[in-house]
Amino acid sequence: MLKRAKKEELSQVSAVVDEDQRCFLNPEAVSRHLFCSVCQEVFVEPQRAPCGHSFCKQCILQWLKKANTCPDDRKLLKKSDLHHDFILENIIGDHMVACPFRKLGCQYVGQLQTSASHKKECLFNPANMPDFLKKEALKNSVQASEESTSRNTEEGVLPEPPQPSLKMRLFAAGGKQRQLLCAMFGENKNDTEQRDQTSVEENINNSKKRKKTT
Ligand SMILES: [Zn+2]
Ligand SMILES: [Zn+2]
Ligand SMILES: [Zn+2]
Repeated sequence: MLKRAKKEELSQVSAVVDEDQRCFLNPEAVSRHLFCSVCQEVFVEPQRAPCGHSFCKQCILQWLKKANTCPDDRKLLKKSDLHHDFILENIIGDHMVACPFRKLGCQYVGQLQTSASHKKECLFNPANMPDFLKKEALKNSVQASEESTSRNTEEGVLPEPPQPSLKMRLFAAGGKQRQLLCAMFGENKNDTEQRDQTSVEENINNSKKRKKTT
């Protein structure tokens, strides 16, 4: 039961937010030389071939499963010829992106190369939220995305993050306000969860015992 609930929760989050998505502030301004010819997206972990062409790591590895040539000029190419293209990666890393949790209310914008460390600490990252806030934040973001699609949003303009709920704002304020909030909504929930968790463990142990006896 618990496992299924957790799974559902995770799929809900990933339906709303793609954590790995890079939301460039100004996608039009990204040089066309930074796009992979295989997937037509801005390179992810670019790898350079001896012929000088670069591709996303996943793109070129997939390609080389079926071919032994460079996708661009058909020169012979094998996996061991590839080198991590640091220069391209750094140039891409300088571009400004929004936090992938913007849909949940995060205002953060910064260079792509620093966004990974922000993501880990981001208060709008469901992994950093107490359970009682997760559901609310998701509901909030679904509402906001429905509203923004019904409005005519200009292309290339980053949509405003939704106004965080009062609870979320208290949580983000930190200190005493967060303590109070968690004391009001968090503790009981944690207790029941712990109880659920132990009963799950008991079940697992019991089923193990049963397996041993059979
Ligand atoms: Zn690619
Ligand atoms: Zn090539
Ligand atoms: Zn964030």
